[in-house]
Amino acid sequence: MSKPGRNDPCYCGSGLKYKKCHMKEDQEAEKERSHIQRAAGFIRRDLLKFARDERFAEDFATALPIYWNEYYDAANAEQMSQAEALRFFDWFVFDYTLADGRRLIELYAEEQMTDLSSHQQQVAADWLNAGPATLYELIAYEGQKLQLRDYFTDETFEVYEGGGRGNVEVGELILTRLVSVADRLEFSTTSAYLPHAEITDVKEKIEAAKEAYLAEQPDASHAEFMYKHSHLLVRHALLEAKNQGRPPVARLDADRSDKKTQKIAQGMARFKR
Ligand SMILES: [Zn+2]
Repeated sequence: MSKPGRNDPCYCGSGLKYKKCHMKEDQEAEKERSHIQRAAGFIRRDLLKFARDERFAEDFATALPIYWNEYYDAANAEQMSQAEALRFFDWFVFDYTLADGRRLIELYAEEQMTDLSSHQQQVAADWLNAGPATLYELIAYEGQKLQLRDYFTDETFEVYEGGGRGNVEVGELILTRLVSVADRLEFSTTSAYLPHAEITDVKEKIEAAKEAYLAEQPDASHAEFMYKHSHLLVRHALLEAKNQGRPPVARLDADRSDKKTQKIAQGMARFKR
């Protein structure tokens, strides 16, 4: 929405000039939003820092091969690309159940909340209630506004993404988590997507896993099921990449632009000869 000039009539129809009417209120709201955005940036970084603490080393080593279906483990974790590391840690923080039965975001809120500013507390409290990572179908878009539909529950959302839809076409699936930042929804971190050809039987796989889970936990909600199974979506994507002849993870891609991993991949190729 473009804002009126100071001396233009206000959009509310009062007949007053904008500067005499809604301008001040709008500026305050804009200021509040930028505070929350900065706080969200801080919380994203602070959660990463928290999750990398040595006390979680054992959970990290257990979780890594679960998420990556053995493509990464504690021995080669440093070969993850930055995007892979961000996606893994997002899952580790929000979805993964630690050995003590809680999720990392719950521990973070319990232990760190009192050290946060009020804006940061607001973000952390919102994110404590964020849903699990799941698949969203892109149903429409306009610039940075994406209309998404939960692929399993059909619930629809309007999401703000600074980079717009990127490479994703309407009908394709985005693997992500939605978090609220001020008055809009955003992706919690770098998201992945499933192109048309790679959607295949993902719905059937998830439905079968859900049926098995509900047989053990008949009262579980869809979200509870998804927290514990969102890694199956990653495994599906890894398998489809392999079926399409693409390296499923960055460390197996010899053409990768990242110098460090490229060197590792070349080293591996030399060793084979
Ligand atoms: Zn007005």
